[in-house]
Amino acid sequence: MSRIFEITEKVLQYAPKADVELINRAYVFAAQAHKDQRRSSGELYITHPLAVAYILASLRLDVHTIVTALLHDTVEDTHITLDDIQDRFGDEVARLVDGVTKIGQIQFHSFEHKQAENFRKMILATAKDLRVLLVKLADRLHNMRTLGFMREEKRKYISEETMQLYAPLAHRLGIHWIKQEMEDLAFSHLESEAYQFVVSQMKEKLDLLHETRSRLEGVLQEALDRQGIKAKVYGRMKHLYSIHDKMQRKHVDFSEIYDLIAFRIIVEDTPICYHTLGMIHSLYRPVPGRFKDYIALPKPNGYQSLHTSVIGPENHRIEMQIRTESMHSYAEDGVAAHWLYKDGSIKDDDRKHFQWLKQLTELLQETDNPGEFMESARLDLFVQEVYVFSRDGDIYALPRGARPLDFAYAVHTDVGHHCMGVRINGEIADFQARIRNGDQIEVLTSPDQTPSRQWIRYVKTPKARQAIRQWFRRQERDASIRIGEKILQDSFGDGELLIKDFDALECANMDELKEKLGRGEIPLESLLKVVDQDSTKPLFLKGLSHSLMRAADCCHPIPDDPVLGYFESGKGMIIHHRDCKLIPKVANNQWIGVNWKSEKGQLYPTGIEVKNYNRRGMLAHISSAISNAHANIEDLKIEQRIGAMSRLKILVEVEDRKHLAAVLRHIKVLEGVVRVSRRNQAGLGHKISNRGIGAAIKGMVSFGKRNLFKAQTVKDKKNE
Ligand code: MN
Repeated sequence: MSRIFEITEKVLQYAPKADVELINRAYVFAAQAHKDQRRSSGELYITHPLAVAYILASLRLDVHTIVTALLHDTVEDTHITLDDIQDRFGDEVARLVDGVTKIGQIQFHSFEHKQAENFRKMILATAKDLRVLLVKLADRLHNMRTLGFMREEKRKYISEETMQLYAPLAHRLGIHWIKQEMEDLAFSHLESEAYQFVVSQMKEKLDLLHETRSRLEGVLQEALDRQGIKAKVYGRMKHLYSIHDKMQRKHVDFSEIYDLIAFRIIVEDTPICYHTLGMIHSLYRPVPGRFKDYIALPKPNGYQSLHTSVIGPENHRIEMQIRTESMHSYAEDGVAAHWLYKDGSIKDDDRKHFQWLKQLTELLQETDNPGEFMESARLDLFVQEVYVFSRDGDIYALPRGARPLDFAYAVHTDVGHHCMGVRINGEIADFQARIRNGDQIEVLTSPDQTPSRQWIRYVKTPKARQAIRQWFRRQERDASIRIGEKILQDSFGDGELLIKDFDALECANMDELKEKLGRGEIPLESLLKVVDQDSTKPLFLKGLSHSLMRAADCCHPIPDDPVLGYFESGKGMIIHHRDCKLIPKVANNQWIGVNWKSEKGQLYPTGIEVKNYNRRGMLAHISSAISNAHANIEDLKIEQRIGAMSRLKILVEVEDRKHLAAVLRHIKVLEGVVRVSRRNQAGLGHKISNRGIGAAIKGMVSFGKRNLFKAQTVKDKKNE
């Protein structure tokens, strides 16, 4: 059990000017706060923060980190608040304690491989200050050491979490010994049989291994001495989990693991590393493919060393790592090895390591300018993303700036398509909301909901954008095929249609024919030429599904108007007035002549214009005239003119031309009205209503027998 004076003494060794008074105060404060709590082992709770602080002192961390370690469970587990901490220990400690508490609150639900990687990134993004992460690692290490007192289920869970999240994090930060100890402890709880097996095998061989190790140490040391190389040789046993892992990965037995012992040669400087390597290779035969130069090309976590395997003395195959003292301490303690003690001095050699650390810390605090080194360390990836939870607790990584629909599409394409809203952290949010790290998002879906074109503007991820576009493409294709089908059926009847020559229509098959026909890409007359059919029979388009037909809102045609239709992909057939400005803009062969008859009670909007003197109640008179004519006002705009006149632009809903004439008559007789006329047939001027592509033409299907739509190619009207 660690005692507080052991910790302060340790700190004073590497930081003689350290404020140990602050450490002592934190200890007294934490001991008081936890005084009624005990660990599962029965020990006083304070033994845990003490142990965590001791681990961090052995990593030579600064006073604030040690103080944070002592206080790390107070906010989470006692009545102490963050404000209390801030008052007594200052901003920096409060921030660090807060960070540790926040990481502790992240709930892990899945240890699926991909999820684990996301969680690790999330921990990094949450920690912001690296010291927070180091406290968390020390906390977890001590909890693992005392895990035996927990019930089995909890032991397994914590061990799994350690294996998946914390050991890899320790590895990423280069703190080798913490990684190894965590793995061995987790291994012992997760696969106790396999663990016991490796332990027993090691035990059996232990004497032999120890003997071999010290003998080889001596042989190697002597060889180096003879060459005049100042070096120290250390033999060490492979850690248990890595033996097990190797047996699993390579499908080999324990007896086939040759490198149970590895050797480290620590030398004075980098040139001597290479010199030593050359000497070793000249003494012992190297194993091909095993040499790695991590000095010239450090690992992403900053690790540096030369690695090689040789057939060594007595034909033992042995692994060697050759490195300098400072590379070695970095290899063991990682980022912690070069932590700058605030008022201590720092060697030039360490400065670049510190620079790396500083950049990493800054990066985690979300500054905009990741250094080049960070790019090679690939840690910059972490802050480009936000990590969010689904309602079920699954974690998703999204790019920074993502919005709710991105999340919905990330869950599943269908969830995206039918997303009608979201709840973020329990509150309804709109599609424009920005997703933040740690948000919990619930997607509300409805089978009736389908994507809108607006959605494209609310998504950031390519996946969502693509899914939305694809949906519209499919809709357009389906609609075109339905229209094409209908055209064929209505033109040629229900019987099987024999197409003599698909090639002439540039179609591969019937579906493509229907689609192209539906999109208006094949004029009916071209189709006639290749169909086995009595060509004298007139073509009728009857009863086209009403939902596929709309009156254009540029020219507002009404029944009995001379109209033309053309198929707009995904929208169906749009009916335009023959005088519409759009007509010349679309290729002739795409227009289909249409006869449009009214149906009782079915109203369509069309524009009229009234010029009148400004009189009291004029507007009321006009609206009642319209209503007396059994028509509706859909929209109305007044243009005041200089003098006593004004002009009204009204969108009225009428059945057909006859009905419209009646409406105009009713208005014309009003006192004060100068002129009344229809407007907009040519699609001129601004639209007074914004109804998308206009009113759906309804109820036509029931009139199918009366051939409401008589189709013909429009050669007669528009000569080619
Ligand atoms: Mn703890």
